[in-house]
Formats: sequence, structure tokens, C-alpha cells
Amino acid sequence: MTPGIRPLIAGNWKMNGLSADLGELAAMGEGAFGGAEGLICVPATLLSRASDALAGSKLRLGGEDCHGAASGAHTGDVSAEMLADAGASHVLVGHSERRTDHGESDAVVADKAKAAWRAGLTAVICIGETKEEREGGKTLSVLSSQIPGSVPAEATAANTVVAYEPVWAIGTGLTPTVEDITEAHRHIRTELKTLLGDEADKMRLLYGGSVKPGNATELLSIENVDGALVGGASLKAVDFLAIAAAC
Ligand code: PGA
Repeated sequence: MTPGIRPLIAGNWKMNGLSADLGELAAMGEGAFGGAEGLICVPATLLSRASDALAGSKLRLGGEDCHGAASGAHTGDVSAEMLADAGASHVLVGHSERRTDHGESDAVVADKAKAAWRAGLTAVICIGETKEEREGGKTLSVLSSQIPGSVPAEATAANTVVAYEPVWAIGTGLTPTVEDITEAHRHIRTELKTLLGDEADKMRLLYGGSVKPGNATELLSIENVDGALVGGASLKAVDFLAIAAAC
């Protein structure tokens, strides 16, 4: 945690969630997030019904990706404006599954972050190294290139959250050591300071990758870890709320 920064516990449902799962969302919306802010990112197909299910709740809603353009001839894509219209306040950009499955480069991710801001959304910009990069000792240099590449220089603590997700830790049950996360997050803060100046001191840095109720207390107590981005364990209200309770 960073003194003075309110933590954010963000969920990412990925390509999961049907109408039958809206009850889980409603249960999350009724739960307690303690001192943290809660955010759940769901497939675009669920957003507007999720927004209805969460009416009156403080839990925020997000999309999982957006196109860089506001509208136009882009069959199958969803714009940030559409996400906002459906009830989102945030959107994930540059998740490693988007970078891998859809070949999204840092430049594309930066463009999507700007599209999010244009629509009034907060961009949750995801970065992180692959297993090969980690084993090759390149973690910090990968972060040094992803940060100026994916985070536009106009980013502020209000319009942007940065999520560090080592690709090899996503969905695997593996997490880096506390020392490794400490080093990575300190490095990210330093690189953001170079890019953004003092604004970087206020920006939330999330850790993501196999965050579960059982390891949340340890992970969330690490210096410069201002919350979590949670995949699998965000699908059930009981698990997601247990992670929030660790704040
Ligand atoms: P996980 O996913 O918690 O299932 O590892 C995290 C993510 O991809 O955001």
C-alpha cells in the first residue's frame, strides 16, 4: 500500500458471465469493500444489465477492452463511448490476453487509453513480462519499455490506473516473491515519475496474477501495491469480497 492512496480492488471476468451470473454481481454490490474502492470489469454483453443489477451500489463497473475510435466501420468492436453509455466508469486496456490474442502493441494500448479518457472513463493500463522475459532477467527492462509505450504522457492519477500483471502468473496459481513484486512496483513508480512527474506519486499501481483470498493479505501489504486486479477469484462474490476484506 502507499500512504494516502485509496486501494482499488478490481475484478476481471474475462470471457465469462451470462445472465444467470448477474446474481453474483448483485451480491458483490451489496458486500463491503472496507476502505477500498471496488470495480468489476465484465463482458460488454453484460454491462447494461450489470449496471441495473448494481443500481444503488458503490461497486464500479468496467469494460475489458475498447476500440480507439468513438464510432465507425469496425465490425464487432466496442468503443469507449459505448461502454460509458452502458454504465462503465473504467476500462481495462492492454491486458496480456489482448496483447497476445489480438497482437496489441504498446502504441495500440496507449491509443485505447486515450479513447477511454475521451469517453470519460478511467483507463486501467496493464503491463507485465512473459515467462521467457522473466527467465532471461529482462523483467525491469520490459517494464521500462512498456511504460512510456503504453501510458500516454497526459495520464493522471484520476484518469489512469496501472496494473502490473506478470503474464506467467495469470491463471497459473503462481505469484512472484514479495521481494520481486516490491522491486517491480518500485521500478514502475520510478518509471512513471520520469514520464509524469509528481503525478506518479498519487497513481494507483495494482498487482494482478493469481490473487486469491489466501494470498491477498500478503500481496496487498507490499509497498507500492495499491490494490489488485483479480481474474478467476472475481467470479464468485464470496472470494472477491474476501480479497477486498484483506485491504
Ligand atoms: P487471475 O487473472 O487472477 O485469474 O490470475 C488475473 C488477470 O488476468 O487479470
